[in-house]
Amino acid sequence: MVQDVSKHYHYMQEAVNVAESALKEREVPVACIYVHPTHGIIARAFNQTNVTLNGTRHAEFEAFRQIREKFQENWQDILIETDLYVTVEPCIMCASLLRQIGIKRVFFGCANERFGGNGSVINVNRDYPRFTKDYDKERISKGYCVYPGFLAKDAIMLLRRFYLLENEKSPTTIGKKQRKLEENEFPKLNYSEYLSVGEFVDMFGYEFEHVYNNNDFLQFDQDGQLLNEHPTGDSKRPKKAE
Ligand SMILES: [Zn+2]
Repeated sequence: MVQDVSKHYHYMQEAVNVAESALKEREVPVACIYVHPTHGIIARAFNQTNVTLNGTRHAEFEAFRQIREKFQENWQDILIETDLYVTVEPCIMCASLLRQIGIKRVFFGCANERFGGNGSVINVNRDYPRFTKDYDKERISKGYCVYPGFLAKDAIMLLRRFYLLENEKSPTTIGKKQRKLEENEFPKLNYSEYLSVGEFVDMFGYEFEHVYNNNDFLQFDQDGQLLNEHPTGDSKRPKKAE
């Protein structure tokens, strides 16, 4: 059954808003929210790597800590039903955390080409593990599915704005010609690195299979409905609920 994509769009919008607040605090603008089907948004966080000078304080871990505090011994039962929305593909460290805590699904914005653990570098969420103990076998072996490309350009622009600000602060660049913010060129996602065409179609519908095949950007209207036209122009636009 095709999913309600607009719901995921709006949650990613919220993650982008959290990343905006990181930028205001001169922190690396990568942010996430965890969403449970009945409790709603149960945690939100952005990276704390700059403020703490600790390169492991990623948003996913920060928000996970909140969940453990909030739900105490029930956190595992909560997380197996919880989706994560994060502006940038989780790194290998965080992708492993997410698998170990049994996250249900992960939605992300742009790829993390250097450290991505959901397909850009390796698929921590899928690779079949070899177990030496029965401990947690079922939970970890199931892995999780990822859906890339939600608000990818917004996620990239936040990072570009951040690095431009950092660059301006740097003593080696003061007085030099200022760099311009690139707003038109974006690296394409190669969807097949992250999910199968079947998983894509289950989420977005058959009428958008061409987006996967052509590695197009997902385009949404302000209600979160997918807008991508078929390249041949004969797109069957999705019917809105009556
Ligand atoms: Zn990480």
